[in-house]
Amino acid sequence: MSVVSYRCPTTQEDVVTAIEAAEDTLSRMQSSNLSIWVWCPHCMAGHQINATEARVQATQEDDQFSESQAR
Ligand SMILES: [Zn+2]
Repeated sequence: MSVVSYRCPTTQEDVVTAIEAAEDTLSRMQSSNLSIWVWCPHCMAGHQINATEARVQATQEDDQFSESQAR
């Protein structure tokens, strides 16, 4: 599983959101030029960011978890 991360436009800090998205899902959002509304823990406020500014970040812990579930 992967989650969306982005760089806060105000503090320039990297923020990992709770939004789950596969890499191809994000690519589709980027090609449709979608913007997403995200909560920023640094500003304690929301930001509207373009999908092209977002990245997906793999959550390795979840991968290990689902692997142990499968056994
Ligand atoms: Zn922010």
